[in-house]
Amino acid sequence: MLAQRARFVRTFTARTSSARHPRLAIEITMALVNEHYLKLSAGYLFPEIARRVSAFASEKPDLAKEIIRCGIGDVTEALPASAIKAMNAANDELANRATFKGYGPGTGYDSVRAAIAHGDFRSRGLEVADDEIFLSDGSKGDCGNILEILGAGNRIAVTDPVYPAYVDANVMFGNTGAAMAGGGYEGITYLPCTEANGFLADVPAASAPAPDVIYLCSPNNPTGTVMDRARLEAWVAYARKHRALLFWDAAYESYNRDASAPKSVYEIAGARECAIEFRSFSKSGGFTGVRCGYTVLPKSVMAYTRAGDAVALHGLWTRRWNTRSNGVSYAVQRGAEALYTESGKREVAALVDFYMENARILRDGCRALGWKTWGGENAPYVWCKTPGSFDSWGFFDHLLRNARVVTTPGAGFGRCGEGYFRISAFNSRANVEEVVRRLGRV
Ligand code: PLP
Repeated sequence: MLAQRARFVRTFTARTSSARHPRLAIEITMALVNEHYLKLSAGYLFPEIARRVSAFASEKPDLAKEIIRCGIGDVTEALPASAIKAMNAANDELANRATFKGYGPGTGYDSVRAAIAHGDFRSRGLEVADDEIFLSDGSKGDCGNILEILGAGNRIAVTDPVYPAYVDANVMFGNTGAAMAGGGYEGITYLPCTEANGFLADVPAASAPAPDVIYLCSPNNPTGTVMDRARLEAWVAYARKHRALLFWDAAYESYNRDASAPKSVYEIAGARECAIEFRSFSKSGGFTGVRCGYTVLPKSVMAYTRAGDAVALHGLWTRRWNTRSNGVSYAVQRGAEALYTESGKREVAALVDFYMENARILRDGCRALGWKTWGGENAPYVWCKTPGSFDSWGFFDHLLRNARVVTTPGAGFGRCGEGYFRISAFNSRANVEEVVRRLGRV
């Protein structure tokens, strides 16, 4: 892009400097935009849902008052008491000159990193050092920010259906071509997740070009499925064979109660050589508004220069944080740390239990109507096949108009999501029960 700009300035100068006025050469400068953003296809899923809901609300304002939102996956219940207590205590420290805290370490306070490394990994027999934990304001950002330390031209693989933020971040970073007519972007490898494979991504065939970066999410958003150990072992072996990176998004890890399904990618031998794990307190501690998550980047994870030299990403990611951020706010980190105390763990478990009971009610309700469902057992999302001849958006509109229930159309998550829809279990119990009643009436 810089080379193009230099060319533009040169041509323009040449055209404006005439033989009669050789000294009138004007150099036009201009701020260049990141043109990759212009490739982003118009409707990010949730704005499109909001548009349809507000169109319905303007058309039928009285009915719109009854709308129950089971679309976006945002928590509804109050924060765990331990987190509140710790954040209040942190604010009191800030109110006192003797205990005041200013800038903290860009990658997180040592005690918080230690609580996480111990609580989520070492206590479960997994080798993760304190300084391999990087605190952030949530994993949505991290799943894209991590691309800053990778080179241009990596081939990216995502599942289809997929959490849209991975794709859009890669579009913004220039890792894709143009948007395609039927959905998706040129240059991305889409890993189809369908009924045939239980909505779980399989490694590509040996004859297919190998991607360099693979995003996997388990428990999965949107399908609610959890990846089995054998599949994840195959992915780790695949990544190592192709010197690729596995991005393991475990934002919903606390919902995974299937003892046989890995909660962390580091349960798999060899993952410390190729995998980066993203975690979030959004759905475990209800931190969607508080904002805190973390990334695990083992020191042994390598990427390569064009000359083929291995470079440890840990140092680059540390540098990235210390240059581009001053880290997560003190009170929020203290709140996150409190989730690892005995009371914090109990409160998180109770919150997760509450949403999982919602998921069970929704799943059973859909099944009772004869709808085919996945998920909802180890994830807060129920993935349903649209009944009859409805497509995803058609059924979304049908439910909005006739049940005043907002769901998420599967097609918004990718081509393979067509013909399905997602119901989120993040809601009050009363709303969830009412949703089931209303679904029974449409
Ligand atoms: N990853 C997945 C799959 C998600 O569904 C979400 C949030 O909905 C996130 C990451 C982002 O979580 P955070 O709130 O930590 O940014």
